Amino acid sequence: MRVLLLAPPGAGKGTQGVRLAEALHVPHLATGDLLRQHVANESEIGKAAKAFMDQGEMVPDDLVIELVLGTIDGPQPLYGFVLDGFPRTLEQAEAAYAWAQQNGRTFNAVVFLDVDEDELVRRLVERGKTSGRADDNEETIRNRLHVYEELTAPLLEFYEGRGIVHHVDGVGTEDEIEARIFDSLGITQPG
Ligand code: AMP
Repeated sequence: MRVLLLAPPGAGKGTQGVRLAEALHVPHLATGDLLRQHVANESEIGKAAKAFMDQGEMVPDDLVIELVLGTIDGPQPLYGFVLDGFPRTLEQAEAAYAWAQQNGRTFNAVVFLDVDEDELVRRLVERGKTSGRADDNEETIRNRLHVYEELTAPLLEFYEGRGIVHHVDGVGTEDEIEARIFDSLGITQPG
């Protein structure tokens, strides 16, 4: 199964992505994590991405598309996955869809986690106290939310048109949100 988690920063994509991937026995691919790894390793990709990430801006599309498709279509091709944080612009979504159609690997489902803005800021500021992430400070958080609204929110319509979006209330405990996601996708948990 191939699932996209689509939601603003702070909505819980990372936490729920890990849980969902485990339940589906597929890898959890988070572009933010992949990019932070490149930054830490000071790779060419990391050097090109760092300034954008520190400002809460999008890393250029061509770089991210190559990184993600290179992972999915790498030496060990992935046929199932939970994608978290990609696609994040219409250009990325169109490029991913064109590739996926050609390769028989389009998304089966898109999970949209719904959380209001005040709650997102509160969670991200809280996370910033321990995450060590350069972009978890209030000014960059506001910018990331603005970038999300402008460039990523329109993707909902793109996927609504394909009838694969599952709207899930993203406020509650991690277990409650997990249960809503599993319910919506028809996943039954053992026990
Ligand atoms: P995240 O961990 O998902 O919050 O992502 C952290 C940062 O990585 C974002 O603010 C962007 O700078 C960058 N990033 C992650 N995914 C993408 C993407 N699909 N396109 C562009 N930039 C991205």
